[in-house]
Amino acid sequence: MKPLPVLVLGGGIGGLAAALALARKGCAVRLFEQGSELKEIGAGIQLGPNVYRMFEALGLTDAIERWSAHPENLVMMDALTGEEVTRIPVGSEAFRKRFGGYPYGVIHRGDLYQVLLEACRAEKRIELNEKRKGLDYEERSARVGLQLDGREVAEGACLIGADGLWSKVRARIVGDGKPRVSGHIAYRAVLPRAEVPDDLWQNNVVLWAGPKTHLVHYPLRRGELYNLVAVFHSDRYEEGWDVFGDTDELRRKFEHERAEVKRLLDKINVWKMWVLCDREPARRWSKGRVTLLGDAAHPTLQYLAQGANMAIEDAVVLAACAGITEFDWEKTFRLYEDARYKRTARVQIMSRYYGDAYHAAGVVRELRNDVLAPKAGAAPDFEGVAWLYDGIRLPQPNR
Ligand SMILES: Cc1cc2nc3c(=O)[nH]c(=O)nc-3n(C[C@H](O)[C@H](O)[C@H](O)COP(=O)(O)OP(=O)(O)OC[C@H]3O[C@@H](n4cnc5c(N)ncnc54)[C@H](O)[C@@H]3O)c2cc1C
Repeated sequence: MKPLPVLVLGGGIGGLAAALALARKGCAVRLFEQGSELKEIGAGIQLGPNVYRMFEALGLTDAIERWSAHPENLVMMDALTGEEVTRIPVGSEAFRKRFGGYPYGVIHRGDLYQVLLEACRAEKRIELNEKRKGLDYEERSARVGLQLDGREVAEGACLIGADGLWSKVRARIVGDGKPRVSGHIAYRAVLPRAEVPDDLWQNNVVLWAGPKTHLVHYPLRRGELYNLVAVFHSDRYEEGWDVFGDTDELRRKFEHERAEVKRLLDKINVWKMWVLCDREPARRWSKGRVTLLGDAAHPTLQYLAQGANMAIEDAVVLAACAGITEFDWEKTFRLYEDARYKRTARVQIMSRYYGDAYHAAGVVRELRNDVLAPKAGAAPDFEGVAWLYDGIRLPQPNR
């Protein structure tokens, strides 16, 4: 009898990465995405050296490198005074050497998505289904039935809920209600190169930190585009990642900041907005033959730029665990969450602290600038980010 496939609910970055990693281990995978098209919406994604290790494990390094670009520095600026607070030279030889030869990159979300999608389409073991919404599931002896709209029930050996921040699968497994609304909103837009004033163009990821606000910008698609993300405190709440923003509210929030910030914001009339949410870290996110992955398992604020990086790490670790247990799914999921919960919790918690530091005001802002100021004459020190960018060691079989 043919073994039952692995079911993946959700065709975002995490779902595709999971399908790919498992297919590469020999599993048949059926993936269901509710959207009418498998696609990722605009804007940029930063890629740490930790995720380049995962691209290597998935055989995707060359494809990613065709689309990604490598900024010279991560720079933090004070949005009130225009002073540089600190920088990490992520484009330097010293950085690459410190992190095992792996680079720091930026990529358009659509390009990253396309690389994953093409790799999935090239895998005969993966079946991709669009316009298929998962409604519920049922676990029966050694199988899972995923109920889809249109009354179909897909039968699988196990189910991976990669269904994002508002995960239905999580509601069954963890049951911790709605996500935590952070009170921060992100507005994002992408500018063509020609519309960016020359004096504001730089091959750096720049973060302008202001009281209760920040603006991030960096070039994308090898310099054809400029990615802008503006974040501010607000009590608006709307679900989804594709809602139009209020340009007047945005301008008011940044009105006391440096001219460089306002000139960039003024270039854009149409913004898409995200209400930023996360959750408290969970110790367990699997039950029987069902587990979670990516934002469904450990949604994080984006201040470390690691949500998608973590989803891809999850996928590679999950597949490694399946190999170790020889596809005993209950054991696989236990091993996988044991390997992942502390690292992903650290990203969730540290992202909140980073957000507080970016948005500091008054004395806290001054202190932040003092603490982060580089020591005169000292070589760049990467140890503060080493826990993250050193990446992970894949679980190994017990000998
Ligand atoms: C402003 C901002 C900037 C960011 N920048 C970065 C960055 O620089 N680097 C980084 O690594 N991360 C970044 N992130 C985080 C990153 O975008 C997310 O962590 C990542 O996209 C999560 O992927 P996912 O596949 O787990 O979830 P999602 O991308 O949310 O995918 C879930 C999918 O499941 C589908 N789905 C949901 N419910 C169902 C259902 N019932 N049936 C079928 N399908 C369903 C959805 O349609 C969706 O396609 C950023 C996030 C924000 C908000």
